[in-house]
Amino acid sequence: MTHQLMKESRHARTAARHPPSAGPAHQDPPPDTGAPGRRYVIRGGAVMSMDPGVGDFESADVLVEGGTITAIGPGLDAAGAAVIDARGRIVMPGFVDTHHHLFETAERAFLANGLLLDDGSGSPSAYPTYVEHILNGFARAYRPQDVYVNVLFAGLSQLDAGVTTVLDVSQIHHSPEHTDAAVQALIDTGRRAAFGYFEGDGRPEARYPEDARRVREQWFPSDEQLVTMVMGGEVHLGRDVYTRSWTLARELGLRIAAHAVGAFGMRPAFDDLARGAGGVEVGPDNLFIHMTGMSDQAWTMLRDAGAQVSIAFPIEMVMRHGTPPIIKMQELGMEPSLSSDVETTMAADPFTLMRTAMAMQRMVVNERVLAGAGDGDPYPAPSGDTPPLLTVRDVLRYATVNGAGHLGLADRTGTLTPGKQADIVLLDATALNVAPLNSVPGAVVTLMDRGNVETVIVGGRIRKWRGRLLGADLPRLRAELEASRDHLFKETGLRQDLFAYS
Ligand SMILES: [Zn+2]
Repeated sequence: MTHQLMKESRHARTAARHPPSAGPAHQDPPPDTGAPGRRYVIRGGAVMSMDPGVGDFESADVLVEGGTITAIGPGLDAAGAAVIDARGRIVMPGFVDTHHHLFETAERAFLANGLLLDDGSGSPSAYPTYVEHILNGFARAYRPQDVYVNVLFAGLSQLDAGVTTVLDVSQIHHSPEHTDAAVQALIDTGRRAAFGYFEGDGRPEARYPEDARRVREQWFPSDEQLVTMVMGGEVHLGRDVYTRSWTLARELGLRIAAHAVGAFGMRPAFDDLARGAGGVEVGPDNLFIHMTGMSDQAWTMLRDAGAQVSIAFPIEMVMRHGTPPIIKMQELGMEPSLSSDVETTMAADPFTLMRTAMAMQRMVVNERVLAGAGDGDPYPAPSGDTPPLLTVRDVLRYATVNGAGHLGLADRTGTLTPGKQADIVLLDATALNVAPLNSVPGAVVTLMDRGNVETVIVGGRIRKWRGRLLGADLPRLRAELEASRDHLFKETGLRQDLFAYS
C-alpha cells in the first residue's frame, strides 16, 4: 500500500466513524427540485408530521416526487432518488401565517412603540400611530413599484424564516396597477400565498371591490396555483361596501377575510351580523382577524356558522387591539390560526408568534388559578372550569394545520402527509441554542428561532438550502427597498431619523 493510499483509507475510516451530520454546507441542492418526475428523499430526520394519521418518528424519511410528498416512514426504498441528509434535523411542515400586511416592509420597526390610534396620552406610544401614519400616511404614497419590492422582500424574509404559506392582507389597491404589482410579487416570491384583495385609499380608478372580477379572471383562473385569491370584505367600510364584497366573493368562489376589532368601533356591526341584520350571512368561508372586544352574541354566531379566527397575539397585546381572545375560543371549542400582522411593530417569524401565544394564554390561566389560593394552599389545583394551559403541540397546530385549513388549503399543505404538496422545513437541532435534542415539539417552540431554519421547500421546490435563500438577488432588492423607503418618507414629510420615534 502506498503512502498516499494509506492516507486515504485512514481518512475513510475516520469519516465512517464520524459521519458529518448533514454534509458540507457548500454542497449544492439536488437539481430541478419540484419539477415533474424529480424525486428526492429527505433521510434520517426527526419527522413531526402534524398529521395524527401519519404520526411522529424519531428518525424517518420523506420521499418527494415533483411537488408532492409520496411516502413517509423509516428506511424508505427510494432507489434512484437524490438524497438530502437530514440527520440532526427536525423535519416538519412549513408554517402558515393567516394575516400579514406585506406591503409595509419599508416601515419596519418605525412604529415600535406605536398604538393603533392616538390615545391622547402624549406618550411615545401616541405618536406616531398606525392609523394616522401608516394607513393614512405612508400607504397613500405607495406607487406600484413600491408595492412590488415591499411585498417581495417581506415574502422572502418569511420564506427564510420557514413560513411557506401566507395570507397577504393587501390593503394597497389604489389602482389596478398597484393590485397587479402585489400579485406579481407574491408569484415571484415562490411560496404558497393567498392574495387578499382588500381596499386601497379609495381613488376612483381603484374599482374596489368590483375589480375582483378582473383579478380573478386575469391572475387566478385556477385554484390549484401556488398563489390563490381571498376577498377582503371589511365590515368597517359600511354595509353598502361589505355586502357587495361578500356577495361578489361568493359569486367568484372566493373565501372572505375581514378585520374584527372592538377598539376600532366594529362591535355594533358584528352584533348586526349576529342578529341576522347585517345584510349578508356569515359562513364557513369567513375568516375574521383579531376578534378582540367582541360580544358573546357575535362569538356564538361565528362558532355556529363555522367561521374561522386568526389571532395576532403580539400585535393585539402591544398595539391595544385588546386581549387576544384565546380563552373565549377555548370556551367555545374553537381554535385559532396565527398571524404576524405588521412588521412596523413586531417580527413576522413563526417562533415569535407561537411563544407569545403560549406565554399570553398561560399568564391569564395561571393568574386565574393563583387567584384561587387560600391560606396554607399557595399553589392550588385549577377549578373545574379553568381552561387547559396551552401546550407546545397546541401552538404548533395553530401555526401549521389550522392556518392551512383557515385559508382553504387543508388538502395541500399544513401537514406532512403523502399526497399533499411538499411544503417542508428542516430545522437544525444540532445548533448551539438547541442541542441536546430532548423534545422535538418542545425544541421548536421553546428554543428555536429563524436562525435554525436551515432548508425550506415549497411545493417540492427547494427555496432555501442549508442556510442560504435561493433564487433571490438580495443586495439588489434591499437597495430597491431602501429607495422605496426614502421615497415614502419624503412624500409623507416624516423625518428619517434612526433614533427618533422610540
Ligand atoms: Zn391587519
